[in-house]
Amino acid sequence: MLFPYLKVCLSGLREKKLEEKCMNGKIGMQVFSLLLALMLVSMVVVSTVSAQDVCRDGTAYFSSIQLSDKGGKVHLTNLPPAQEYELVTVNPSLFAVDAGSGRPVAVDILGKEYLLDLKQVPAPIAEDAKCIVVNESGTFTADFPWIQCYSGTLTEDPESYAFFTVGDGVILGTIRHGNNSYTIDQVGTTEVGGVRKIVHAIYNGSTVIDVKSPFAYDLQVPVSLEEVEKLEESEKMLRAQNPQIDPRSVTTVTLCTAHDWQFRNAFPSPNYEMANMIAQMGSAFSPSDIGVGFQINAFCDIGTVLGSTTNPYDLLQAFGENIKPDRDYSDSDIAVLFTGKELDGDTIGITYDVPGSSGHAYAVVQMVNAGSTYQATFSQRCVNTAHEIGHVFGGKHQDSTGSPSYARAYHWKDWGIWDRYTAIWTPFMGDEAMLEFSSDTNHGDASHDNARRIYELKGTVAGYR
Ligand SMILES: [Zn+2]
Repeated sequence: MLFPYLKVCLSGLREKKLEEKCMNGKIGMQVFSLLLALMLVSMVVVSTVSAQDVCRDGTAYFSSIQLSDKGGKVHLTNLPPAQEYELVTVNPSLFAVDAGSGRPVAVDILGKEYLLDLKQVPAPIAEDAKCIVVNESGTFTADFPWIQCYSGTLTEDPESYAFFTVGDGVILGTIRHGNNSYTIDQVGTTEVGGVRKIVHAIYNGSTVIDVKSPFAYDLQVPVSLEEVEKLEESEKMLRAQNPQIDPRSVTTVTLCTAHDWQFRNAFPSPNYEMANMIAQMGSAFSPSDIGVGFQINAFCDIGTVLGSTTNPYDLLQAFGENIKPDRDYSDSDIAVLFTGKELDGDTIGITYDVPGSSGHAYAVVQMVNAGSTYQATFSQRCVNTAHEIGHVFGGKHQDSTGSPSYARAYHWKDWGIWDRYTAIWTPFMGDEAMLEFSSDTNHGDASHDNARRIYELKGTVAGYR
């Protein structure tokens, strides 16, 4: 077990952090010795669970918290709308050791043990990604702390989906299996032995009661014909400067992600939350007929900079003006604001109706429950983010009258029964909104093919930086 641990120690961090990390490693080793003893005990249990060579008992990564325990102070900030959930604290370093070991990992989810086959995948983060904090005293910059992402399936179901983002104090993850969609997300803080710990909720998305009304919508800021003409000219120039690359290759688009203090209040570790959302949202852009991979260059905490406005138009404009220096500094193609504010009216997101324009590559997405068809579950937040970023690449709603005519969202029925809508459908259709774009080769046809539009514009967007 020492080898996988050391591997994580060496591969998880950048060189300049190595010395510091290996000091942490000593502490880790002490913890590890203790856990080794625990593991020996648990192995007896595991051997009865499965003949497979699992890492350890599935309860090792999550420790249940009882709210009735009056001794412990638990500060909850963002409970899921699920009918059932379990509150836990987590052991990220232990999980990272095991998930990177190449052996099946057993996890206890709501009292049931699942076996996962996971492998480490690159986190959607630049090697030299920066955390930028803006407050009254000025702007402060720091390196991004360690992060590991793991992707895979349940051992028993190769069609299932599992993804985890692990870092300081957090194990954020999703397991989709049949009709169940389990989420592990951060929902508050507590203190254990004087140490602040992040409280996570484990819940099954299928126990969230679907809200059918009122509908939630997004907004696209219209731009004058004159400006569109000017933009088409500049798009042509950009294309000439950045000729379309090999169609089979993945185009990297860089992001400047930002959040306000309300988002930080809801998610105690906001940067890991944004990283996990971009990592999982990115799966909508990864099919070969799109071929876009995201890389976060900057994580910005803009605190109270945008003031108290909840007007979507004002917020988008203020965000664009304020984030531009950080977007330029970090060489990012697109800037996205994850807001913890509830936007006015039925709005849950906003961007500009001008794809192909670097000056308008800004989007705002609401990350809290709107009391409508948008309840801001983890998967719904990912769809909402894919929707707005999809607009930046020229993706359009199903009823758009704009050009080109094939850039349209799509609706279909699974098994002829269940309604399904691609990500850029409007209004937001709750859990029937899927994390995918309409595509001629999958859910869509020649006149409903946002994938094609995103594919066509990806070279232009990647050329913004
Ligand atoms: Zn839209």
